Amino acid sequence: MSVPFIDFKEQNSLIQPEIDAGFKKVFEKGDYILGEQAHLFESAFSKYCEAQYGVGVNSGTDALHLAMAALDIGDGDEVIVPTHTFIATALCVSFCRAKPVFVDIEPDTYNIDPKAIEKAITKKTKAIIPVHIYGQPANMDEIIAIARKHGIKIVEDAAQAHGSRYKGKRVGSLGDVACFSFYPTKSLGACGDAGMIVTSDKAVYDKALMLRDYGRKGRYEHKIKGTNSRLDTLQAVVLNAKLKHLDEWNAMRAKNAAYYAELLKPLSGVVTPITKSDRTHVFQTYAIRLSNRDQVVESLKAKGIGALIHYPIPLHLQEAYADLGYKAGDFPVAEKTANEILSLPMFPHMNKEQVEMVVKALKESL
Ligand SMILES: *Cc1c(COP(=O)(O)O)cnc(C)c1O
Repeated sequence: MSVPFIDFKEQNSLIQPEIDAGFKKVFEKGDYILGEQAHLFESAFSKYCEAQYGVGVNSGTDALHLAMAALDIGDGDEVIVPTHTFIATALCVSFCRAKPVFVDIEPDTYNIDPKAIEKAITKKTKAIIPVHIYGQPANMDEIIAIARKHGIKIVEDAAQAHGSRYKGKRVGSLGDVACFSFYPTKSLGACGDAGMIVTSDKAVYDKALMLRDYGRKGRYEHKIKGTNSRLDTLQAVVLNAKLKHLDEWNAMRAKNAAYYAELLKPLSGVVTPITKSDRTHVFQTYAIRLSNRDQVVESLKAKGIGALIHYPIPLHLQEAYADLGYKAGDFPVAEKTANEILSLPMFPHMNKEQVEMVVKALKESL
């Protein structure tokens, strides 16, 4: 008996009729590019995030890239990024010819460490990109205080945290701009690539609208140099259907996480995720820590349990960033985390037996 890393069959069958009807309507209407469903999703999702505006784009990576551009980040600027994240968090900075400045993370939440941010700030720092890693918001009060003190912007990388809350407020409303990915495996996922920039800043919104549409305002006038990165109307049909279920599905993930925690508690050497009392965790990823992680991953795979590593190489040690001159030992917390972290299967419709099977296999693998 095997347990996949994720399995969306059940959630897909729930929304299948709505998607069939929605696709048919789009084909009949022919509004493929920035059609009605895309606009509906922009307003529904930004409202869900308790923010004023949403700009649908091609991917989470594009959302980050265009957010940087909308904030005028460019040549000579520095942007502070946690080293423990997906590489897109830093690529967006490089694409704008600015420099990502990596910093360490907190050992308990794996989120960016505010104390490390303060130390990394220079005259060139223009922004901080906190990543709400695995689904739990970063320590925003401290990050906001630092950003205000130094007059720098906050771009939330919320690609893993659709719907989670910090002190009651939704992720997406906590910084100057927030970027979401709707990559199929995210907790709100399309049937392909999709992403969104969410903001309550009208100037950022207006610029992001132009940036994703060849820099134009109206049909023939091009105000700035933009690109082509627009949320597909067909993807928006899928996302509109799923958004209605997101809170319920997040609650199901949290219930599975609680059951994992209960079963894993007696196992020595397994560190389970913690949730800070002032925020919620939506568990897009259920990540535990183990000292003999590499052996355990192989053993779990052999037993048919889907397990992945998010992420085995911190960004400062990636070949793509060799030019920045970082070395092993620069960020000890992130490096230790990269060696020990392990993501177990997690999806809303995962049942109790599946959680039990994963824990049983893990016990044997230890
Ligand atoms: C998935 C992800 C992205 C990139 O999103 P894409 O839609 O795949 O481009 C960026 N940042 C984080 C933290 C992610 O998990």
